[in-house]
Amino acid sequence: MYPIAPPLLGWFYANRRTLPFREDPTPYHIWVSEIMLQQTRMTAVLPYYERFMKALPDIPALAACPTETLHKLWEGLGYYSRVNNLQKAAQVVCEKFGGELPGDYETLLTLPGIGPYTAGAIASISFGLPCPAVDGNVLRVFSRLYCDEGDITDPEVKKRCTERVMAHQPPDSPGDFNQALMEFGALVCTPRSPDCAHCPLREICEGAAAGCAEELPKKAPKKERKTQKVTVAVVRGPLGVLLEKRPEKGLLAGLWQPYMKEEDCTEAEMLTSLATLGIRCRKTGDLKPARHLFTHIEWQLSGWMLETDDAPDLPENMTWAKETDGDMYTLPSAFGAYRTLILP
Ligand code: SF4
Repeated sequence: MYPIAPPLLGWFYANRRTLPFREDPTPYHIWVSEIMLQQTRMTAVLPYYERFMKALPDIPALAACPTETLHKLWEGLGYYSRVNNLQKAAQVVCEKFGGELPGDYETLLTLPGIGPYTAGAIASISFGLPCPAVDGNVLRVFSRLYCDEGDITDPEVKKRCTERVMAHQPPDSPGDFNQALMEFGALVCTPRSPDCAHCPLREICEGAAAGCAEELPKKAPKKERKTQKVTVAVVRGPLGVLLEKRPEKGLLAGLWQPYMKEEDCTEAEMLTSLATLGIRCRKTGDLKPARHLFTHIEWQLSGWMLETDDAPDLPENMTWAKETDGDMYTLPSAFGAYRTLILP
């Protein structure tokens, strides 16, 4: 295929967005921005990125940050395992590499939460190393450019795409080339309605020539999500609202939630369960049904507002949160529908 780097880079230098991590692409900045951008849109990420960098300007600050503060900085972005891994990796970097990310693709891959894409982005953008950074955007662009009908969830297809990226990557500007591909996928060769009419690669795009660009990439259908009933009790007592910390492993690890059961539970069963903690409640209202989508599971939430006069000592993983304690507890967005009822 005709080289894509010259027209792509020409387009990139003329059209790239000004982004804070692009202006100062240190390994730490690129790392945090790439982790935030997994599963989250650029416009949503930018204010989080600015706030995060202000609070935690370097890797030692991230490594030492108390968990509650860290989760607060991430609150609303979701997928908290990302930030938990970010901190674990920062701690390893402080212990083994003197607080600086290693400038080596293979070593980056050994750090928690850093996969081939993130390692490639850091290595190429911050260290200028010739590495691929192939994410969904790049797979889409290359499937279209080569009119490749292979299933992009197939490792062989991804390998083929990675080889094509590297065949086009100019050795003197791997970071710019990778960023140009990401930007091009986000702004021109978009998942729906790619702007083929104004595309700098139009002349060499085999997908556009074959008239099937928008049908690419091909992807095996996702498995259906399982549904799970979740019964929530927003319990208000003399000391505040009852909150419970989730286990340190698994879904929403270590985050706070209202008292709840991950099952369909009757009002009587919920009241009995609370009574075993010494909390006798009366119902003051129903919670409107809500749902929350995780990657593999859909929660269907419902439940009640309850009131109690009791304030017994609680197990270690529970607390009474006052209305003014909003800054101390990170509630996952799964409870967004009830948030104002829990911590106004
Ligand atoms: Fe994408 Fe269309 Fe450009 Fe091909 S011509 S690379 S499909 S925007």
